[in-house]
Amino acid sequence: MAEQWIYLDGQFVTKENAKVSVFDHGFLYGDGIFEGIRIYNGNIFKCKEHLDRLYDSAKSIMLNIPLTYEEMQDALVETLRRNELRDGYIRLVVSRGAGNLGLDPNRCPKASVVIIVEQLAIYSEEAYRTGLKTVSVSTRRNIPDALNPKIKSLNYLNNILVKIQSNLAGAGEAIMMNAQGYVTEGSGDNIFIIKNGVITTPPCYLGALDGITRQAIIEICHKQGYTLKEEPFTMHDVYVADEVFLTGTAAEVIAVREVDGRVIGEGHAGPITLKLLEQFRSIVDQDGLKVW
Ligand code: PMP
Repeated sequence: MAEQWIYLDGQFVTKENAKVSVFDHGFLYGDGIFEGIRIYNGNIFKCKEHLDRLYDSAKSIMLNIPLTYEEMQDALVETLRRNELRDGYIRLVVSRGAGNLGLDPNRCPKASVVIIVEQLAIYSEEAYRTGLKTVSVSTRRNIPDALNPKIKSLNYLNNILVKIQSNLAGAGEAIMMNAQGYVTEGSGDNIFIIKNGVITTPPCYLGALDGITRQAIIEICHKQGYTLKEEPFTMHDVYVADEVFLTGTAAEVIAVREVDGRVIGEGHAGPITLKLLEQFRSIVDQDGLKVW
């Protein structure tokens, strides 16, 4: 990419000039929301689903996005065109905007909108075959009646603490449980387990983001005739699964080969996981909004 153009409150600025106020409550308090989106071969994958989730998150935290849905979609398209990006990652951030040092969002007259697009450093193709080493962590997922994990908020400290624990354990990703000990998700991905051909993912009410990739996989499972359940399960079920995989915009569908020292299945990506990855990759440049 030659010059990277960043969308900042209606203007396109260079990376060096892309600056927000130190009084922005996104910076001071993590008060804001975001989306991570992919563009594949000129197609913004599941654009509508991402924008719907963004506007739902905004409504939930009473954040007034200063752009209409259509204006936001246009801003996304324009940012991609400016950067001549056909394949890559889109980070869309809406922060509460600049206020005073107090918590009160009423003191922040205007939310700030930032769109950053760039190429994506993704897992190697080999990692998709070998799978990830993961650990479960002691840090519990935010309880939904404190900060609901369905809100894709800028407050990611829960996830960051989990990532620190997983780094310390030398693992590639972590598995988070909720306060009751039910599996919820990874630090930045949803989780699925497969046992005797039955695919199960935790219901989001247990404390998980309603991932767009998760939904895409659920749809693929239904279309392909797999038995798919959204049911609570525990770490025991993960340990004894035939296959385990994680889903997310950046990770797509990636197998887990080890959890807390237990080898999953054959210790590499299993056949259903690889099939789902293949089916997922066959729709990513079809389903969404065409830019190029
Ligand atoms: N859970 C969390 C906590 C996430 O941050 C993400 C996004 N990286 C996901 C799940 C996956 O969601 P999506 O498929 O929409 O990227």
